Amino acid sequence: MKGSYRIGRIFGIPILIHYTFLIVIPLLAWIIGTQISLTTDTIQGLFQVPIDTSLITVGFMPWILGTVVALGLFFGVLVHEIAHCIIARKNGVKIQNITLLIFGGVSQMEEEGAPDPKVELPMALAGPLTSLLVGIVCGGIVYFIPEMTTDTATAGVLIFIFGYLSFLNVILFAFNLIPAFPMDGGRVLRAVLAKRMPLHKATRIAAIVGKAFAIIFGIVGIIFFNPFLILIAFFVYIGASTESTMDQFTYLLHDVTVGTTMSSPVTVVAPTLTLAKVIEMMLTSKHLGFPVVDQDKLIGMITLVDVNRISQTDRETMQVRNIMTHDPVTLPPSAPVMDAFRIMSARNIGRIPIVQDGRIVGIVTRTDILKVTELKKI
Ligand code: ZN
Repeated sequence: MKGSYRIGRIFGIPILIHYTFLIVIPLLAWIIGTQISLTTDTIQGLFQVPIDTSLITVGFMPWILGTVVALGLFFGVLVHEIAHCIIARKNGVKIQNITLLIFGGVSQMEEEGAPDPKVELPMALAGPLTSLLVGIVCGGIVYFIPEMTTDTATAGVLIFIFGYLSFLNVILFAFNLIPAFPMDGGRVLRAVLAKRMPLHKATRIAAIVGKAFAIIFGIVGIIFFNPFLILIAFFVYIGASTESTMDQFTYLLHDVTVGTTMSSPVTVVAPTLTLAKVIEMMLTSKHLGFPVVDQDKLIGMITLVDVNRISQTDRETMQVRNIMTHDPVTLPPSAPVMDAFRIMSARNIGRIPIVQDGRIVGIVTRTDILKVTELKKI
């Protein structure tokens, strides 16, 4: 994921931190620091344990406590993710990395294919249940502290920290179980649905539920003017959309090659052709891009995007070779069509020439892939 920095390794799994999470820690420390009295009252009310505030409110103490709690939350999220990874490993799913994001963490799985619901259910549940356990343990410690020490000021500080962490971990548990992608609850929902229907249908329903929750978050966020909730709504919405699109494609196209998807024979152009002529060809053929071939060899691609960059007058004099994209990405006919789809998405290109033994044998476009996907749905 873009904007992530590697901070270390646990059990050989790289731990990445996304910049949104780096914002959360100081923000949380600041919120706790400025609202120390209110927070202390809340914890006192939640646990029904009296808190001596003489040390909590003195000097820089509110900010120090804010930082300690924020770092505690960081470890809470990390433990949550590690729980997912342990269950994943036990089931033979490899984990590429753990990324800590604004709303928690994401464990990047190595498997590209659709997940097995039997594995996904325990894997998705492991994280939230671990958070609940951490929350209960921290809550238990709160009640032990007055027994351990007679120094009520120190006890007050410890009750504050563990009480707050207990609360945050229970929130982490509850929030992650909301049935919306990309949160764990979305995976739980899909795994449960997948017992009764094909996986791609389960994914589609889970994604719709996820989007619905995102919209609710967004509306509530706007009404109560909560920018945090609006940001989460965006994340959930985007997560739900990408997850369902990729899963649908992966499921429907898992056994399709570019060879059976491509258009063939393919119209090619010479490097010396004028741009005016290429535009004319685009208009008559309705193709928005052509491979450029010189002596039977593919040397580039020319697309409408390239042509649009050139002014009207220059189009009369310039040739294809002046503006074409050199060394385009190619695939052999045997390549899985999902590879073509991934390359197109990653590089934002609309078509890939298919090459065998150095010669161009066809071209695969986004439209070709969409058509095959539609036909596969029948
Ligand atoms: Zn999780």
